[in-house]
Amino acid sequence: MVGGSVKVNEPLRDHTTLQIGGPVDVMVFPARPDDLVRVVRWCLDRRVPYSFLGFGSNVLAPDEGLEGVLLRTKPALDFIRFEGTRVVVGTGASVARLVAQAAARGLEGVEGLAGVPGSVGGALVMNAGTRMGEIGRSVVWVDLIDEAGRTRRLEAPELEYAYRSSRLQREPRWLVLQAELRLVPGDPSAIRRRVDEALQYRNRTQPLHLPSAGSVFKNPPGHAAGRLIEEAGCKGLRRGGAQVSEQHANWIVNTGGATAEDVLGLMIEARRRWLRRSGIAREPAIRLLGPLRERWRRATAATA
Ligand SMILES: Cc1cc2nc3c(=O)[nH]c(=O)nc-3n(C[C@H](O)[C@H](O)[C@H](O)COP(=O)(O)OP(=O)(O)OC[C@H]3O[C@@H](n4cnc5c(N)ncnc54)[C@H](O)[C@@H]3O)c2cc1C
Repeated sequence: MVGGSVKVNEPLRDHTTLQIGGPVDVMVFPARPDDLVRVVRWCLDRRVPYSFLGFGSNVLAPDEGLEGVLLRTKPALDFIRFEGTRVVVGTGASVARLVAQAAARGLEGVEGLAGVPGSVGGALVMNAGTRMGEIGRSVVWVDLIDEAGRTRRLEAPELEYAYRSSRLQREPRWLVLQAELRLVPGDPSAIRRRVDEALQYRNRTQPLHLPSAGSVFKNPPGHAAGRLIEEAGCKGLRRGGAQVSEQHANWIVNTGGATAEDVLGLMIEARRRWLRRSGIAREPAIRLLGPLRERWRRATAATA
């Protein structure tokens, strides 16, 4: 018996911030950590394909949907426990709540994540952050279930954190359960001010009024991807319901009824134009799910 809820043929567009994606065969919302682990082991025993979703704020999901089981980390792993300057946080907790609780305790280290709309799990995998800092710098260890269903603890150096990158991204069968972060005591009012400034900056510079998945491409070293895309004449470019944002050229927004093919097509076109202009190739910051990854690879292989 597994506690929680199950949905069959569940539209991914209802679970992604881009509001795009066809149905997944089965979506499971386990109630407790044990339930989550049991579902992973059940899938492994029966060779059923499975994958994970946090809050869906960094993914492009295919129009035809996904096969197999998609596991949500909330509610099972939605917890935050402070112990002095350390915090053990479940991967189903929201980054916003973590940032707010750390600020309220006068603890520095995660305020750079203010305004990131994802789960802690997504942040740990993507090494989410801003110019003010990224989560990987605060990680002490993570606990996960590996591809054989074993529980493992990896220390920070084993996670190979780098700009928007981690070893966790290269291990799609690993389910991250929880992490310990080390924070630093600071001045509560200064931390709150930095959080407020970060949120105001976002409101001024990002198209938050439309569905998106945040920045689409990683910044090449020494460059801003948004600037390169703008200089290549892509700002405002449209395909179906998808558009390269007029406000921030590294964001693709869903202006209504956009499909995954629309977004992928825009990504391929933007990359083609800026590569021709600047010669700088860069990989996506968003995760392309299911067959989209292979379509992107094929479309860009000749100029990788
Ligand atoms: C408006 C907006 C602003 C944004 N601003 C920023 C920003 O400033 N900086 C930034 O870095 N990002 C930003 N993002 C992108 C996104 O919010 C972050 O990458 C976030 O950390 C993703 O978390 P998530 O829970 O939504 O992950 P999801 O999109 O659900 O998942 C992302 C990937 O992580 C995997 N995953 C999730 N949880 C687990 C787990 N527990 N175990 C194993 N794998 C897991 C998924 O399988 C998927 O491959 C923004 C997005 C939006 C929409």
